[in-house]
Formats: sequence, C-alpha cells, structure tokens
Amino acid sequence: LVEIHNVHKAFHGVEVLKGIDLTVQPGEVVALLGPSGSGKSTLLRTINHLERVDAGSVTVDGEFIGYELRHGKLHELREREILQRRTRVGIVFQNFHLFPHLTALENITEAPLALKRLSTDDARELALGLLDRVGLADKADAYPRQLSGGQQQRVAIARALALKPQVLLFDEPTSALDPELVGEVLDVIRDLANLGTTLIIVTHEIGFAREVADRVVFLDQGRIVEQGAPDEVLSRPRHPRTREFLAKVL
Ligand code: ATP
Ligand code: MG
Repeated sequence: LVEIHNVHKAFHGVEVLKGIDLTVQPGEVVALLGPSGSGKSTLLRTINHLERVDAGSVTVDGEFIGYELRHGKLHELREREILQRRTRVGIVFQNFHLFPHLTALENITEAPLALKRLSTDDARELALGLLDRVGLADKADAYPRQLSGGQQQRVAIARALALKPQVLLFDEPTSALDPELVGEVLDVIRDLANLGTTLIIVTHEIGFAREVADRVVFLDQGRIVEQGAPDEVLSRPRHPRTREFLAKVL
C-alpha cells in the first residue's frame, strides 16, 4: 500500500534519509523506532509530501502524493491537487495541532467540508460518529483549551480519520502527554489496529509496539538498520545500534 523506494533527503547539505526502502502492506501495523535525530519524523513527513524528497519516490496505493509522472519525469503537483491526494494519508502529531479557535466538532469537519464536498449535515454526522468512536461524544462543542491532552489527541485522531485515509501515520502520539493520559490514546490506536487500519507509528512505547505492531522497523542515522517481527527485533536485536537503543529505552 505504501511503497517507499530509495528515498534520500538532506537539510542544508546534511543527509538525514540515506536511501530508505520500505513497503507497508494493507492492514499492516508498522512501528518505527530509532534514536532522536535518526530521521523518523522526516520519513513520515515524506509519505504525505509534507517534506519533498531529494531522490527516490513514495507512492500510496500506487499513486504519488506530491508528484505526477509526465514524459517519464516526476513533476510536482499544484497545492490543490496535493491536498486532494494527501487525504489518502492521515497524520497525527505529537502536539495535537488542533485549530484552537474551532470546537472539537469543527476541527473534524473542517477538512471533509473543504476537500470532500460533504454537506454540513453529513460532515456533522460523520464527526459525531468519530467523536463517539474515540470516546468523546459529549465533547463536540468543547474548544481544545477545554480538553485534556489525551482528549485533544483523540480529537486529532478523529480528525485524521474523517478523510477516510488509506494509511494513518502517528508521530510519537503520546510523547506530549502526562503518563496517566497515555493509556486512553493507546487504546484508540489499538482499536484502529484491530479494525485492520494500516498504521505507521513512531513511538517510544516499546511495550505497545510489541503488542500491536506486525513489524518493527529500526532507523538509525537515516538508514533502516534492522526490521522484523516485534519479538525478534525487540527481544533478540541483531544490530549493535538496535541493542544500544533498546538498552536505553527499556
Ligand atoms: P526525534 O526522535 O527527536 O523526533 P527524529 O528521528 O524524528 O528525531 P527528524 O526530526 O526526522 O528525527 O530529524 C532528523 C534530522 O534532520 C535531525 O538532525 C534534524 O535536526 C534534521 N531536520 C529535521 N527537519 C529539519 C528541517 N526542517 N530543517 C533542518 N533540519 C531538519
Ligand atoms: Mg521526530
């Protein structure tokens, strides 16, 4: 479903992705682990074209998000088209990124109204259903500042789901939360995994990765150095960098 092929990305001449190849199957849950600065967020951001690649390609369900092929060459699409195609890929950030001036419900309906030509009533119904799914049916009219971090993150997940993405990306979705709020967000992600949603999750929650991931991918200095079944990679890491990392976080 997601095909990442030989992706390179540099910032100011420093290469932070050094040839990433990764294929994610429909329904697969991939946990992306790695030390700070290894390129995890950058890799996620290339998937929905929040970050341009310098070389290589990313497709979702066979289609580029930010480019089209013309005469054998990739050309970047217009913003409007990128926004349309980006609806295939949902993303949830560490710091929620909700619109502060919109209610929970409005945060969720904003994108489908703009991009999916839904009627106001249909968008509202969709949003209420999603709020119910993340356990916040009673918070439709609350503003982000009136919600806890865990609640805000669950609204952010509902918002990402509103565009019915084919794959959902999570960038350390619980790292900004007080410990007692982590569980409620992981529960929602676990439900999505159990429903067969394709997920790529950057997380430092090793126990959670072991439980929900079909595959663990370990990134170090812009390269995938090890990947495999969670039990393999997390219990019997082969690469010294993976061992070193796990020794620190476990
Ligand atoms: P963390 O665990 O701390 O979130 P990460 O694995 O997500 O780390 P990235 O955020 O992908 O790492 O960053 C990889 C490298 O690229 C880092 O050295 C970072 O400073 C650099 N970098 C990321 N985004 C930019 C940017 N927009 N401009 C310049 N450098 C960047
Ligand atoms: Mg990051």
